[in-house]
Amino acid sequence: MAANAKTGEVLLKVENLVKKFSITGGILGREVAAVKAVADVSFEIRKGETLGLVGESGCGKSTLGRCILRLIEPTSGGIYFEGRDVRAMSGPELRVLRRRMQIIFQDPFASLNPRMTVEEILGEPLDIHKVCASREERRRRILELLDMCGLRRESVTRYPHEFSGGQRQRVCIARALAVRPDFIVCDEPVSALDVSIQAQIINLMQDLQKELGLTYLFIAHDLKVVEHISDRVAVMYLGKIAELAEADELYRDPRHPYTKALMSAIPVPDPKRKRDRIVLQGDVPSPISPPSGCYFHPRCPIASARCRSEAPQLEGVGTEGHSASCHFAR
Ligand code: SF4
Repeated sequence: MAANAKTGEVLLKVENLVKKFSITGGILGREVAAVKAVADVSFEIRKGETLGLVGESGCGKSTLGRCILRLIEPTSGGIYFEGRDVRAMSGPELRVLRRRMQIIFQDPFASLNPRMTVEEILGEPLDIHKVCASREERRRRILELLDMCGLRRESVTRYPHEFSGGQRQRVCIARALAVRPDFIVCDEPVSALDVSIQAQIINLMQDLQKELGLTYLFIAHDLKVVEHISDRVAVMYLGKIAELAEADELYRDPRHPYTKALMSAIPVPDPKRKRDRIVLQGDVPSPISPPSGCYFHPRCPIASARCRSEAPQLEGVGTEGHSASCHFAR
C-alpha cells in the first residue's frame, strides 16, 4: 500500500456520474442509439491518497477520468472538488481548477509535440497559467522539474524523439507537475512501457506523491499494475463500478466474480498463494445494448435467473469501505 500523507479529508467527490455518447445516422444525422460509457458512478478520493481504477479497455475508465477534468462534458451527475461544484465552474474559477487538476496520458510520444524542446514543453504550462514572474524564475522552475523527475539538466534543449519511452514519460510527469497541481489523473501512464521501466515510473510517482502531497486517480487495465501504488481500488465493468475496497482488502478477499477473474490472472510467485485461473467466457458486451439485469451475467460463472432480470446495486459487503455490485457478494 502507498505510504503518503493521507488526511481523511475528501478532495474529490463523484456522484451518480453518467456520460452518454450519441450515435447518429441517416441523412438528418438523428440519434439512432446511445452508448452509456459511464453509467451512474459514485466515489470519493481523499487528499493524498491514490485510487486505482481498473477495467478492460472500453469499460469507461478513461472517459470517467476525462469527465472529472471537464475535458469532456458529463451527461449528468455531480463532480465536487474540495466541495465546490466542478460542473458549475466557468471563467477564472475553471482556469484555477485546470491548474490544480492535471493528467498524464498513456502514450508519452503521442502526447508530446515532436517539434518542441523539453524547455518549450515544460515552459508552456508555466506561461499559460502565468506561474513565473521572470525568465530566470521560469528557467529555475524547469531545471527543478527535471531534477525532480530524474532527468539530466542538459535535456532542456532536446526533442521528444531523442528520449527513451521511460524518459519521455518522465517529461510528461514533469509537465503535469509544472503548475503545482493537487490532483492528477494518471491515465494508464505505464501501459505503453516495458515491464522493467514500469516499476521505475511507478516508484517515481510514489516518491513525488510523498514529497508533494499529491492525490492520484490511477487508471490501468490490470490489477497487477495498481497493486503497489493504490490505497483503494475500484474495478469497473461496462461503465459501472463492480467493486471498491481498500487495496489490501481487495487483493486478499475479492467478492465480485469479475474481480476474482482479474485477480486469478495475476502471476503469484508463492505457490501456496496460487489461485485457480478463472477464464471468462466471451467478450465484453457492446455498451450500445448492454445485457439486462447484471451487466456481467453473460460471462459470470455463477450467474442465476435473478441476475438476468435484476441489476445489483453497489453495496457494502461487511467490511468497512468494501462494496460490490453483486447479488451474491455478501
Ligand atoms: Fe454474477 Fe449475478 Fe453477481 Fe452479476 S449479480 S456478478 S451475474 S452472480
